[in-house]
Amino acid sequence: MINLLDLAPADAELALRAFLESEGEPGYRAGQIVARLWARPVATFDEMSDLPVRLRSRLADAFTLARLSLVTSQASTDGTRKFLFQLADGQMIETVAIPDGDRLTFCISSQAGCALRCAFCATGAMGFVRNLAVHEIAGQVRELALLTDPLRATNIVFMGMGEPLMNWKAVSHVLTILNDPKGFGIGARHITVSTVGVLPGIIALGERREQFRLALSIHAPSDALRQQLMPVNTKYPLADVIAAAAAFDRRVTFEYVMLGGVNDQPAHADALATLARECQAFVNLIPLHPGGSMGFTPTPPQEIARFARRIRGHGVEVAIRKSRGTDIAAACGQLRVERIGRRPPRPADDHGEVQVA
Ligand code: SAH
Repeated sequence: MINLLDLAPADAELALRAFLESEGEPGYRAGQIVARLWARPVATFDEMSDLPVRLRSRLADAFTLARLSLVTSQASTDGTRKFLFQLADGQMIETVAIPDGDRLTFCISSQAGCALRCAFCATGAMGFVRNLAVHEIAGQVRELALLTDPLRATNIVFMGMGEPLMNWKAVSHVLTILNDPKGFGIGARHITVSTVGVLPGIIALGERREQFRLALSIHAPSDALRQQLMPVNTKYPLADVIAAAAAFDRRVTFEYVMLGGVNDQPAHADALATLARECQAFVNLIPLHPGGSMGFTPTPPQEIARFARRIRGHGVEVAIRKSRGTDIAAACGQLRVERIGRRPPRPADDHGEVQVA
């Protein structure tokens, strides 16, 4: 049986048209059905109240709409909400919904676990399990839109569990579903793919005609230090990642997690600013989320501010990311890790950084 949620809207429409024709039903119904997958989603064919009842049951015989089951959710005092979903094979993945003014950003997962083992990352610590299917990635956005009090994303970041560009085939379809007006209709500039620097994936993303955004996890301004923090640096060294960023036809963002005493010295700021200037990148400084910190300590807020000023002094645009959901362990991989039992999260007010730029 075909799972319609694994298909881009245009492909789902084609499959439905063929089916409708074989059933002697009018072709326009295909568009009606596609609208109920993502744009005005319903959980089952039976709930597609704009279709005749007989057609709904024939659809249910021919197609599936796979669900993710919500295991648990938590709300932070800052409004951030975190959801743990269980997949058909028992794997658990996380999704975080982060409100900010008029915006609601979903941080979604693209893999169960992650192979890259970045030293400060909770997902890396659990190792790689498998790639997520299209419906398991886009389904995170759909499931939150199906809640009794629906959550509709205005922005998407691929900053949950996993490396999206190591699952490009599925992620590429998901990007279509997120952006297509027949899907979620989220503007491409509001969709950010975050990567450690998987070069073939960066090229593939750049070849898409939509203006999807690219964020690069840099985290260190030299190969020697980056190597220690991100083993993937052997395969995709800093210079190659910077060159790929420079070649990318749209503006990129550098992600830089602030690790106390490790990568937060003035010389690091100077070197990082030089790299950012080379590819006209915008720099996002991320306070370390302590739940997944594995022996690292966060750089104090006033030192992060000083680091940011130093970068700005080089003419580079920089922002300090607000740390959100610290009381609910909302960083990469932390909810799942928490269920397996590791260190407790800290209260949200421990960590009051503000957006600087
Ligand atoms: N694999 C991709 C996307 C998932 S991680 C990537 O690495 O970019 C999303 C971002 O969260 C990355 O920049 C990652 O380095 C960062 N991150 C991981 N653990 C963190 C922690 N404990 N505190 C703050 N940021 C963290």
